[in-house]
Amino acid sequence: MKFFVTAVNTEVGKTFVTASLLRAFLQSGRTAIALKPVQTGCEMSGGRLVAPDVSEYAKVNAYSDIAPIYAFKFPASPHYSASLEHREIKTDEILKFIDAHSAQREITLIEGAGGIFVPLNSHESFLDVMRAVDAPIVLVCKNELGAINSALCSVYVLRSHGLKIAALVLNFTDEKDEICVSNAAYLKSKLKGIPVISLRKFQKDDFAAAARSFENFIASLNFNDPSQMDAGAANLNETAAIALDAAQRGQKDANLDENSKNSDACFALDTAQVCEQDGEIKSSHVAPPLMSASNTGPIDLNFDAKHLWHPYTSATHPLKAHGVLRAEGNKIYTTQGALIDGMSSWWCAVQGYGSETLNAAATAQMKEFSHVMFGGLTHAPAVNLGKKLLSMLPQFDRIFYADSGSVAVEVALKAAICYQQNVSPKKNKILTVRGGYHGDTFGAMSVCDPVTGMHSLFSGILARQIFAPRPSCRFDAPFDPSSTDKISKIFKENKDEIAAIIIEPIVQGAGGMWFYHPKFLDRLRELCDEANAVLIFDEIATGFWRTGRVFAYEYCSAAPDIICIGKALSGGFMSFAAVLTNEKIAHGVSRNGGVLMHGPTFMANPLACAVSLKNLEILCAQDTAQKVAQIHSDLQEGLRGCRSLDGVADVRTLGAIGVVEMKEAVDVEALQEFFVKRGVWIRPFGKNIYLMPPFITPRSDTQALCEAIRDAVKLKIYKG
Ligand SMILES: *Cc1c(COP(=O)(O)O)cnc(C)c1O
Repeated sequence: MKFFVTAVNTEVGKTFVTASLLRAFLQSGRTAIALKPVQTGCEMSGGRLVAPDVSEYAKVNAYSDIAPIYAFKFPASPHYSASLEHREIKTDEILKFIDAHSAQREITLIEGAGGIFVPLNSHESFLDVMRAVDAPIVLVCKNELGAINSALCSVYVLRSHGLKIAALVLNFTDEKDEICVSNAAYLKSKLKGIPVISLRKFQKDDFAAAARSFENFIASLNFNDPSQMDAGAANLNETAAIALDAAQRGQKDANLDENSKNSDACFALDTAQVCEQDGEIKSSHVAPPLMSASNTGPIDLNFDAKHLWHPYTSATHPLKAHGVLRAEGNKIYTTQGALIDGMSSWWCAVQGYGSETLNAAATAQMKEFSHVMFGGLTHAPAVNLGKKLLSMLPQFDRIFYADSGSVAVEVALKAAICYQQNVSPKKNKILTVRGGYHGDTFGAMSVCDPVTGMHSLFSGILARQIFAPRPSCRFDAPFDPSSTDKISKIFKENKDEIAAIIIEPIVQGAGGMWFYHPKFLDRLRELCDEANAVLIFDEIATGFWRTGRVFAYEYCSAAPDIICIGKALSGGFMSFAAVLTNEKIAHGVSRNGGVLMHGPTFMANPLACAVSLKNLEILCAQDTAQKVAQIHSDLQEGLRGCRSLDGVADVRTLGAIGVVEMKEAVDVEALQEFFVKRGVWIRPFGKNIYLMPPFITPRSDTQALCEAIRDAVKLKIYKG
């Protein structure tokens, strides 16, 4: 849906109104953009013409930082400013510009320049553009002496040209000034078909407070049937006559009201709600709570900052958190606008957000039952998901459903230890490599990298495990057999104690985004076979196509005894994970009446099972490998240019993962804010600025993500 913002004159605050209205639409959860096709009075800065109004929009929404198609230096009527630069404005080009930029948005606000008859060239004015666009008009008027006349003249002209008026905005209304108050009252009574919205004089940049004045207006719009907005076109001459009558014959109010009611349909607006806007004038400068589209209530960011713990943050000095209104496809809609997701919400949202198929799977299961205990009971979702998992992982035999990745790692470690207790009871240590990440619970933490896993914080409580160096041979380098010497030596020295080896195959994720050679894993298999240790692969991050194969360990010849899966398992829908063991482990654990002593309350949650099954069905049915390969080549192409930039240590890509490793730790907050302004969601950690977009990401968005990283590095944002 488009709106054309015009005014009764220049200098009445049209740009402020446009930016505030833009913000109000974004807050209501819509994707919105503001465009200014023609701007005079531009200034040279950094080698290009900067349009002042567009800069205002960009404060509200990064996406609206779109240069006008016609930008001129001299501040005058466009036809004249253009002539000074020996140029001519073509309305066709303006229309193409509007079409190109409004395509992907639910709401496009188009701001004119000056008023209705402002000339663009020798024979056309903005009225011609408005008629061609044929969008409802938001008419801005300064509430001062003379406002009634100028507003009614403009309304009359617009209506008589078949244009519908979505709203009249009386800007700079002073509720203590009797002229302002009587202007508003008079215009309201005469223009019953049009919502009249009074905005007081707001401080510059206080878009948030102004946006609040548009909330009722937006709530009353009929988005489901935008054609309604055009339905009254035939009545418009009549409507125009009414407007004229209204100005001429104030005494026939009752009659006017009747006629207006008939013509109201063409505005598709519930005027009862929006005509009561004067109350808003009294609101103070305090920014309103941000409203969420789904009516789940306001997002009280102050409460969040004061009382909610976020991951790995200080309770007293938290990093900024952005309020999310909704998420759909590969976009996260925050109160600041749409963000292209480069994180898949920490590896999990491979299908993007709001998948109707996944939602339907959850809803269908919810109608039956959303949960029952798994002790002594079972159900179709658990069984059917189990069948699907075994078909994808045929070398495994038993499945343990866990409620999160960390719990899955605990269960895998427990299973390995329980197995050894029945086979070689002295073995109770776990061998792993540095640079790993396996979760945040105590058992999982004990096998995380001792430095980034903060073992020093918990020394004395954490189980002491055995660490080998990080696998040194790169994934894309020829294999260096000596790269396994150290771990082989450590293994042999401790083989009587080592119950299991746990490792993230191929990609070390949260421990450093490092990709290593598959042959390293083959060597671990040999070591485990020689000494009957259990080999555990933690594929919680890598599983389900992320690395380009369905599971990362498909790059090597070895298979583990136990595999942990999670994250993308439920397609990002909810927390869920699983541990699969082979027959040998299952039998070993259960020898002599042994049992696996673990049983989460929400084990095999039916909703999680049903959604995960549907997710796997979709991923298997589509050409997921091809999609990931495309993302990979776009990441390769898009990040390649970073290699030569200052401060960059390494650039690497694998599957749908792209990493720019810096020489030093980066300023996360500065980068995050830069990225949000750019309309992308990228959250770096340590030295790594990295991408793992949802598999549904369109190519242009992958490119935009890469470009944002390139610019952030070029501009040295990472230095803070
Ligand atoms: C994320 C992750 C975990 C922990 O999963 P949670 O669901 O966050 O508990 C474990 N291992 C690896 C490799 C992970 O990436």
